[in-house]
Amino acid sequence: MDKLALPNLESREYEHPFDRQALELVMQVPRFDDVARFFWNSGTEKYRRVTYLGSYIRVEQTAFPKLHAQLTESCATLAFDYIPKLYILPESRIKAEIAGVEDPLIIISTGAIESLADDELRFLLGRELASIKSGHLLYQSMASNLSKLIGVMGKNPLFKVVQFLLSDRILEWARYSKLTADRAGLLVAQNFHACITTMMKQAGLPNADFHRKDLVNGFLLQARDFQNLGLHEQSDKARKKLSENLQTPWTVDRAWQLLVFHENGEYKTLMEAHGQRVPVYVDSEDRTCLNITCGSKLLRTAKFCTGCGRKIWWTQGADMRVIG
Ligand SMILES: [Zn+2]
Repeated sequence: MDKLALPNLESREYEHPFDRQALELVMQVPRFDDVARFFWNSGTEKYRRVTYLGSYIRVEQTAFPKLHAQLTESCATLAFDYIPKLYILPESRIKAEIAGVEDPLIIISTGAIESLADDELRFLLGRELASIKSGHLLYQSMASNLSKLIGVMGKNPLFKVVQFLLSDRILEWARYSKLTADRAGLLVAQNFHACITTMMKQAGLPNADFHRKDLVNGFLLQARDFQNLGLHEQSDKARKKLSENLQTPWTVDRAWQLLVFHENGEYKTLMEAHGQRVPVYVDSEDRTCLNITCGSKLLRTAKFCTGCGRKIWWTQGADMRVIG
């Protein structure tokens, strides 16, 4: 099925309310901007980048045409004007993450590439692209490098007072930001079933059981049972106590929150308001349509592909930056 692009979609339109509220609490921490600047200047980010560039395989179009096409299509769906570099993390778990703030890289595990179907992979990539689109990469980096962040704050007596307050709040926000990322993943994958099966695979779904029809429904029933525990209605203190060691929200809670977004009409409204045919990136030197089922050679003056009919975004440079 052809996907739709959402060129005018803004991240606040699909932002989960828990994400917004938690970020407001982070912003209210005294001297937050100073801590963020101090963290940025500490060089933690550069170190991570060097690690990825130095150790992991980069996904180039010639070597990994299908995976690269999945990435470019996902970027086109969210109207990115460049394609972030994608690296393969040598890990059997299904995992994806972002490194870098100014020129972010996406990292995806071998396990994800090997175990996920096309739309599931789009969901995974869409979730990471959402972090870039929201413009919160520095905060994400602070949360995922918490021990470094605490170290940075410890070095400056002005930040000592806010150390624990900020650590707590930024971790909670990082968890809730995943709920927004899941929504973006659905907007990219445009296949709710595939989003839920991705979550199930990440939660350890054995391959042998995968073709059972009632699998997703069973999981969503489990998610409803979890909601009946009333965790979101608990006091902040109780909820924090239960979730303090979690890097991501409870998987069944994520599934439930995404189900609500899908069923309450928000998803449909956004698709109807913004959906249009996905454009295709074409390198102005090479001039080959990057739609993997097309591959036509194009005239530089073309506005639409003569093979697949899609609108062309002419690009230039290694990161395929859009020039027209
Ligand atoms: Zn084409």
